[in-house]
Amino acid sequence: MSGRDFDDIADINKFFDGEAAPARPVTAIPERAGKPDGLDTEFSPFIEECPACRGTGKFRSWSGRIVGDCFKCKGQKNRTFKTSPEARAKARANNVQRRAAWKAQNGQQDVAIDCTKIEAAFAKRRSVAAEKGAVGVKGLVLHFPNFTFSPDRRDPNVIWVNSKSHTNDRGLPAAFGKIVDGKLHTFRLATPEIIDEIKAFAADPAGNARLTGQKKEFGICCCCGATLTDPNSIEAGIGPICAGKWGF
Ligand SMILES: [Zn+2]
Ligand SMILES: [Zn+2]
Repeated sequence: MSGRDFDDIADINKFFDGEAAPARPVTAIPERAGKPDGLDTEFSPFIEECPACRGTGKFRSWSGRIVGDCFKCKGQKNRTFKTSPEARAKARANNVQRRAAWKAQNGQQDVAIDCTKIEAAFAKRRSVAAEKGAVGVKGLVLHFPNFTFSPDRRDPNVIWVNSKSHTNDRGLPAAFGKIVDGKLHTFRLATPEIIDEIKAFAADPAGNARLTGQKKEFGICCCCGATLTDPNSIEAGIGPICAGKWGF
């Protein structure tokens, strides 16, 4: 077997995002990766020349010097896909359309708010969780009176800002916006007041988390959602363990 397998179209789309070069089929189905007895009729892989290294299997520096194996095909020169190049091209085109339609439908706007400090707080929290062997995004939520911040379950580059008082058509919390690459993108539901609240947190996550927890009508630790009961924590507006986990 050459290259790596892709489990689904989403993987493939991720790989091809922003890549102009189309996959060039080297061979249609020259090999069957089935069992030697030939009973495996389910899996007919499409083996193609790796587009990243153009089938050389080598990774070249900007000067053209070979500096190692191609990181896309791991030096295998070919890549194996479960679907045809045509099917994948079609799926990519559909995805582009779907994304554009989704943006239009949800009124996506790009807001000039620097969210890199929020991303840094989540990165810190993730590294603390990873040190303890935790995987996934369970518990990685920040609680505010009107919304929560929670990382996307699949895409580590996305943090959602979800409303506490709106749901979408699937009954899940509807998003005010999302943070990607340090920038905030808002949706139709986000009012100027909500955007201001996100902005205040983005400017100073640690200070704002404490300030929010100190508000009597909230009285909740932003980091875990627990009601603050310890006098010291009430005064600090945050629990001491949570503060450490988030770098607040
Ligand atoms: Zn390659
Ligand atoms: Zn807490």
